[in-house]
Amino acid sequence: MSRTLIELLRAGDEGLPADAVLTDPDVTSSYANDMASFCDAGTPAVVVLPRTVEQVQHVMRTATELRVPVVPQGARTGLSGGANASEGCIVLSLLKMDRVLEINPVDRIAVVEPGVVNATLSRAVNEHGLYYPPDPSSWETCTIGGNIGTASGGLCCVKYGVTAEYVLGLDVVLADGRLMSTGRRTAKGVAGYDLTRLFVGSEGSLGIVVRATLALKPQPPQQLVLAAEFGSAQAACDAVCRIMEGGHVPSLLELMDRTTIRAVNALAHMGLPETTEALLLAAFDTQDPAADLAAVGALCEAAGATQVVPAEDAAESELLLQARRLSLTALEAVKGTTMIDDVCVPRSKLADMLEGVERIADKYSLTIGVCAHAGDGNTHPTVCFDATDADEGRRARESFDEIMALGLELGGTITGEHGVGVLKKEWLAREIGPVGVEMQRAIKTAFDPLSLLNPGKLF
Ligand SMILES: Cc1cc2nc3c(=O)[nH]c(=O)nc-3n(C[C@H](O)[C@H](O)[C@H](O)COP(=O)(O)OP(=O)(O)OC[C@H]3O[C@@H](n4cnc5c(N)ncnc54)[C@H](O)[C@@H]3O)c2cc1C
Repeated sequence: MSRTLIELLRAGDEGLPADAVLTDPDVTSSYANDMASFCDAGTPAVVVLPRTVEQVQHVMRTATELRVPVVPQGARTGLSGGANASEGCIVLSLLKMDRVLEINPVDRIAVVEPGVVNATLSRAVNEHGLYYPPDPSSWETCTIGGNIGTASGGLCCVKYGVTAEYVLGLDVVLADGRLMSTGRRTAKGVAGYDLTRLFVGSEGSLGIVVRATLALKPQPPQQLVLAAEFGSAQAACDAVCRIMEGGHVPSLLELMDRTTIRAVNALAHMGLPETTEALLLAAFDTQDPAADLAAVGALCEAAGATQVVPAEDAAESELLLQARRLSLTALEAVKGTTMIDDVCVPRSKLADMLEGVERIADKYSLTIGVCAHAGDGNTHPTVCFDATDADEGRRARESFDEIMALGLELGGTITGEHGVGVLKKEWLAREIGPVGVEMQRAIKTAFDPLSLLNPGKLF
């Protein structure tokens, strides 16, 4: 069976060249997991690295003919096991399809292949005075295909919105190998159902994205960052509410709790203030960022900030952002493994969320650090645990689940940006209910009747 699979993958005019079909188990096993390393994963039968749309079509036709599951992958920085291999699957890595095909300043669009790294696209469009806002903290490695697969957010989404807002059109290879184009490259367009939006966040379960048309913005002025220290996480959340209620539009509003601050210092010696309970980072990319920061600084003080320090220049601002971007990696270093919750609550419930997480950490005697895209209400309570300690692993999973339950109780969602993957499968049903699941399954069946695309994820 497996020899036939490999032979067919290489066969014909559109067959993959030998170096695009990896079969050495030592190599293929390294493609088994994304960054949620503790999630179950199968062993891939083969890893393919196509360079063309036709090759992707050939892979899908072969998979359909032999009924072999296919797991699409970008850079595998996902945090929910969404890109994990299933047993005997074809891992379809899009990393070699990494060309920026077009940047059009008049239409304000970019057309890219799925393997383009987020930061590469950002820098490329900057050269044209343009801006691609979605900026996950993993932006130096994660790909646009993966960003579309998970509907990624990031730091600047509080002002500019998430990936979904920037995907105008897609070319998608369907499970049976047909090529479908969705959406548009125009500023407006309402022809038919919005299949483009349906694919954003579909976690590789409906089709393989092989090309994306993305909306761009004019490049804003350089942002300036302010850091505010608080004696409690609740006071920092109060400041977030005051800032949003006051009508301010920060380009970033991020929170790090004490555990996260200490973890970042331990990893990168960044000199963040360790005695503080929470650090709020606010930024403005307006014409007069200093004036905006002064107004927001005053609101932080009114909420009880013990210190408010505006960055003096772009370099200092970038240093603060680097600290925030390192948060998840730093928390992973605390105990070797993390389960990263991604609960998003209405901003007005942020303080309740953080208070509840503290309670849950105490109940399970665990270290749970919280960093958050606070302006979006999107928290990342990160359960730090030793994966070799069975009891700690069990407590980690229970606390992780209890945090999601708390998020739903507060009117939130189990995932603001990381997706469901395998990690939150049971929780999707709790959030959307049986009718919601039934309709989602019907959509899945319409696109993928043999259930070959990323099986075992989402439902
Ligand atoms: C340190 C760190 C920080 C992070 N910070 C953020 C953050 O701030 N915001 C955020 O949203 N996420 C964040 N993430 C999570 C992760 O980086 C994002 O989910 C990212 O979008 C994944 O991109 P990827 O290329 O690694 O995709 P992968 O992990 O390889 O895949 C993600 C999903 O997309 C599917 N997929 C990939 N390519 C395609 C394709 N071409 N067609 C169809 N489906 C496809 C996969 O099957 C999978 O379900 C972070 C991760 C890390 C490790």
